[in-house]
Amino acid sequence: MNKYRLDGCEIDSVELKALLVSRGLKVDRKVYQRYGKSARLDVNPVACDCILLSDGTVVQLTDMGFHLKYLSGVLSWSNLKLLRYASQLGTDFSLRVEDSNDAGSRLTLYWREDFLDYVSLPPQTDFYHRKTANGLPFVGNAVLQGLDWVAFQCLWPCEFAASGHKCEYCFSGDVFEEFARKGKLQPAAVEAGDVGEIVASALWLDGCTCVQLTGGSTFDGMKEAFYLNGYLEAIAQAAAAVAGIAPSFPAVPDVPGTQEGAALPERASEKDTPSPIAEAKIAEMLLYITLPKEASLIDGYFARGASRIACSLEVADEQLAKRVTPGKIAFSTRQRHLDVLEYTAQRFGPGTAFSNFIIGLEPFESLRSGASALAERGILPTASVWMPMGRPVLGSMAPPGLDYYRRVKEHFAELYTRYRLEPPVSRGLNVCIERDIWNYAQGR
Ligand code: SF4
Repeated sequence: MNKYRLDGCEIDSVELKALLVSRGLKVDRKVYQRYGKSARLDVNPVACDCILLSDGTVVQLTDMGFHLKYLSGVLSWSNLKLLRYASQLGTDFSLRVEDSNDAGSRLTLYWREDFLDYVSLPPQTDFYHRKTANGLPFVGNAVLQGLDWVAFQCLWPCEFAASGHKCEYCFSGDVFEEFARKGKLQPAAVEAGDVGEIVASALWLDGCTCVQLTGGSTFDGMKEAFYLNGYLEAIAQAAAAVAGIAPSFPAVPDVPGTQEGAALPERASEKDTPSPIAEAKIAEMLLYITLPKEASLIDGYFARGASRIACSLEVADEQLAKRVTPGKIAFSTRQRHLDVLEYTAQRFGPGTAFSNFIIGLEPFESLRSGASALAERGILPTASVWMPMGRPVLGSMAPPGLDYYRRVKEHFAELYTRYRLEPPVSRGLNVCIERDIWNYAQGR
């Protein structure tokens, strides 16, 4: 793991990642000119760009120059409101092209005028220009993260947000709330066949091995199970085709349980029967779910190939959570989150249930005790760094400082080691730091 000097302080790659994710960078125009066509680098923010530090750490790339220009250039009422916070959004990090006679041009990360690292970008891809056979564009529906993840941001509308209870930090929640306020029909859920096709394409053409499925929160566990079971079945079929187990890619899956209202198909106990997804070598299949009242639905997700399930608390302090994540507290409730997480960890093993925390939204002490309480029960606490540039939370866009991130890193590393909780096996996500903390804990 790399070490860096920043303002007279020695920091490591995990800490640098947290600072870069929370503050963003200014990207020199020459970087786009030099690498825009030869690497994965897009000015469109939904493409979720990242850089790789020289030790391989994956870091979200948010170009603050572009972001601030966008805020001041688009004169909508909501952007004018956000401009109030612009002074909290400064960054001292920049990405530039260094021309060197002997080694060609190099992508260089700076803090103010101090050199930090030579970094790189993932290989070029046409992922964001592809469409499914149904005509659904990949862009806006799925993203590549790091080198091995394909992730779906919001596969179906959030009913909590539509009812006026959106989480303060959530971009997708804004969209659904706005639709409801204007009396518009909510967008339809993405079709199972489209999801299967996008995953197969990412496995086959982009070398992905890990998948994240996320949808909005729902009031009805059966409705969510209908979506998720359909997606899992479709992914299993498409992934098997990629692995050469079945010859039918690309194909829109025709599987039981994908027609709305159809009975959910039963599967044999998973413990004895390898799922089709395991056969097709998807290393991680993460589901972010709302809380079903029927625990048997969780069993069904594992039966269809889920490797881990998240019911995320996001904020440990319950009083703060009432303000930041009002729907999760009012409808799914703290107690039900804990019950479902505990049920999953007990039934499927330590680390199979996890809860995300958004790092930077609450005092370290409440985060520490919340994460500890979960880890003691075999539930993996994961850590996604708050990116304040999107939405103010609790009236602020000011991220915490280095000391906060360092304490989080040390504490989570201790929990992972003491309770043997290994985060998803991958080369890392853009914004989440749990795998990076695990690597730190292993002394790598
Ligand atoms: S419940 Fe989930 S989708 Fe809905 S607003 Fe909160 S974070 Fe966004």
